[in-house]
Amino acid sequence: MRPASVTAVETLSPHFRLVDLEGDALRAVDWAPGQKVQVAMGSGLTARTYTPMSWDADRGATRVLAFSHGDGPGSRWANGLRVGDTCQFFGPRRSLDLADLETPIVLFGDETSFGLGGALRDSRKGAAATCVFEVSDLGESRQVLEAIGLGDATVIERTADDAHLARAETELARLAAGGALFILTGKASSIQHMSRVLKAASVGSVRVKAKAYWAPGKTGLD
Ligand SMILES: Cc1cc2nc3c(=O)[nH]c(=O)nc-3n(C[C@H](O)[C@H](O)[C@H](O)COP(=O)(O)OP(=O)(O)OC[C@H]3O[C@@H](n4cnc5c(N)ncnc54)[C@H](O)[C@@H]3O)c2cc1C
Repeated sequence: MRPASVTAVETLSPHFRLVDLEGDALRAVDWAPGQKVQVAMGSGLTARTYTPMSWDADRGATRVLAFSHGDGPGSRWANGLRVGDTCQFFGPRRSLDLADLETPIVLFGDETSFGLGGALRDSRKGAAATCVFEVSDLGESRQVLEAIGLGDATVIERTADDAHLARAETELARLAAGGALFILTGKASSIQHMSRVLKAASVGSVRVKAKAYWAPGKTGLD
């Protein structure tokens, strides 16, 4: 476990907070975009997983973008954070291995993937990545994406019956024709859906990396 202090909390919108963590235990750490941290919630064994957007190993500092979808422990943690609070986390740990990425890169995900999008955008290979996100609130998401430098992302509003995925399908199929490498993150069922679409478009599994960040009814996926 690495102890860290909260040095800044920026509320970007009602559901999104940028959280800066610092501490000696964050120094001299190897980190790569796509890795995860598992933040302990309170004193128990419960943890929730987040994606560092950046990591400064000299200063001992990292940043996550937390989306508070509801009132689970992670959402409550993010909503309640104040400068000077402390926390403990495991990681950074391997999650999506993006080391061998070839370009062009397409990231598909949702609100929980914005942080990964930011990390990619700041990386050498991922700087030109195309981002396609399904979101619950178009206006709020656009505002947050703009604030973190991803204002050019394609944002698609969810519909109750998942009919919105048809638009994402069209987008991904078009990008597949350009030889892109795909990173699929976010909601498990949407990842499965997009994996099928890519398979049907003859995109081989070597061109697809996938990691579910959450699934309805499940808690604390890592
Ligand atoms: C590798 C990895 C990296 C991640 N990175 C980030 C990140 O950088 N930022 C971030 O905000 N999240 C990230 N997540 C997702 C986050 O860990 C989950 O959304 C987590 O469930 C939130 O915890 P909670 O306590 O608020 O909700 P939980 O108690 O875990 O979930 C309660 C219920 O809420 C629903 N739910 C969970 N997540 C969502 C959601 N996003 N939207 C709608 N409903 C949901 C589910 O039905 C679940 O059963 C990541 C997850 C993984 C596995």
